[in-house]
Amino acid sequence: MSETPSIYSHNLKKYVGGCHCGAVRFEAELDLAEPMSRCNCSICTKMGGTTTQVPPKTFRVLSGEEHLGEYRVGDSPNFRKFCKRCGVQCFGGGYVEMLGGTFASVNVGCLDGVDVALLRIQYWDGYNNNWEAGARPQPWPLHQA
Ligand SMILES: [Zn+2]
Repeated sequence: MSETPSIYSHNLKKYVGGCHCGAVRFEAELDLAEPMSRCNCSICTKMGGTTTQVPPKTFRVLSGEEHLGEYRVGDSPNFRKFCKRCGVQCFGGGYVEMLGGTFASVNVGCLDGVDVALLRIQYWDGYNNNWEAGARPQPWPLHQA
């Protein structure tokens, strides 16, 4: 049996973050030296978030569980959680085989003391369901010329 290499960095560090109004707080381990993700799928286009996957076992809601709402597209196994008071989508998760099964992702803009403008960004072509192409340094236009 071959060992599946970890999709996560070996330089994980714990970060704490939350929504805008402060009701929801969470923590997770991640590596800010890794490229963060943006996507052009129908919901990411509207929300405009910058996200990164975190090892699910490092992710924890610290407070405000009762303030969390959940959004799913259709019958997707994947969800986004948002604060029902301020509307900020703080994190998400679900199940995607290509992402190693169960996954958790956080909105990097929600992390305390993190400036997204200083991070490396990679772009996914979710609009075309083109996950196999992987992420690249340039954004994917919605409509190819
Ligand atoms: Zn809030």
